[in-house]
Amino acid sequence: MELANRVKTLTPSATLAITAKANELKGQGHDVIGLGAGEPDFNTPTYILDAAEEAMRNGLTKYTPSGGIPALKQAIIEKFARDNGLTYSSDNVIVTTGAKHALYTLFQVILNKGDEVIVPAPYWVSYPEQVKLAEGTPVFINAEEENNFKVTPEQLRKVITPKTKAVVINSPSNPTGMMYNRQELQKLGEVCLEHNVLMVSDEIYEKLIYSDDPHVSVAALSDEFKANTIIINGVSKSHAMTGWRIGYAAGPVGIIKPMTSLASHSTSNPTSIAQYAALAAYRAYEQPVEDMRRVFSERLDVLYELLNDIPGISCVKPKGAFYLFPNVQNAVKQTGYDTVDDWAKALLEEEKVALVPGTGFGAPENVRLSYAVSMDALKEAAERIKRFVENHQ
Ligand code: PLP
Repeated sequence: MELANRVKTLTPSATLAITAKANELKGQGHDVIGLGAGEPDFNTPTYILDAAEEAMRNGLTKYTPSGGIPALKQAIIEKFARDNGLTYSSDNVIVTTGAKHALYTLFQVILNKGDEVIVPAPYWVSYPEQVKLAEGTPVFINAEEENNFKVTPEQLRKVITPKTKAVVINSPSNPTGMMYNRQELQKLGEVCLEHNVLMVSDEIYEKLIYSDDPHVSVAALSDEFKANTIIINGVSKSHAMTGWRIGYAAGPVGIIKPMTSLASHSTSNPTSIAQYAALAAYRAYEQPVEDMRRVFSERLDVLYELLNDIPGISCVKPKGAFYLFPNVQNAVKQTGYDTVDDWAKALLEEEKVALVPGTGFGAPENVRLSYAVSMDALKEAAERIKRFVENHQ
């Protein structure tokens, strides 16, 4: 059967491809260290599990309002006020089936054929694909490594055209872990406002920060910015709840309302019991979130040192999320491979370390390593990578 044009150019997720290969090797009995994962290695905290169980037992297993149960929306509104200094009302918020589906729904709602969305590279793999699925055109700008993987207002201004609808800001970033500070966001936000370009601020890694710099939401910088921003967030990364599929978007009613209508005809609503679990996550104490953050922070410090010690590998120290994004271009050359993809494939085959080539993130000189694995596994992985590089010199 002839498939729809929209799926013909879809690129399979780079992360999933390496994970599949790693699993295949594991299945053959190999001792594989997987650094490809995009999710915390912790279990969802017990108080959240209890809330879901209670919801289930109390019969809260039916359809809910499309945009989410009022109590969860209220908890999200309180979270915005507490953490970000932002005031939203219920009409400004939609709860979605993960942050990914908030983004998907958003692009479906705002893009017409040929509309452009600026996506700074390195980028999270789904942004360009989701833009294309909405018949939009992703326009890439390079967030240079020398500039700590941040784009400048000048870069942004240069690529804006009359067709530009939105720009994606992901801070802290997957895959680089970089974070924009208040002044940088101010300048980027001004360019967007000047040209009537919507800011899509993906703040999913907000709670995973390892620097003294605070997380700043661009929407909080002024009322005008707030009216020109859609915030994307969720509990997947902050509360180790990736499988529960609860995310949300907040922004102007004119965008949130059609998103809710679209959701009513696609997902109907996010899973009821997962919404009650997320409600507990936001209503209860935050200690488990902080405990996880501290463990990630310790791992980052150790892995960062170990990687930078390997000849041909250099790494900008990330400030957030749970990834390192080293430049391995010299190591690739030294070891005689043509591309990062070939290098990563050989590393997996020879030393059984799975990491994700940067190609899928728009960064063909880098690889992404997730430190959502135990400290012992990280140390062993670094040792294996070092041996691989040395063996091929
Ligand atoms: N945004 C970024 C930058 C991510 O890295 C991810 C997950 O990997 C998501 C959004 C999606 O999160 P969720 O699992 O809530 O759909």
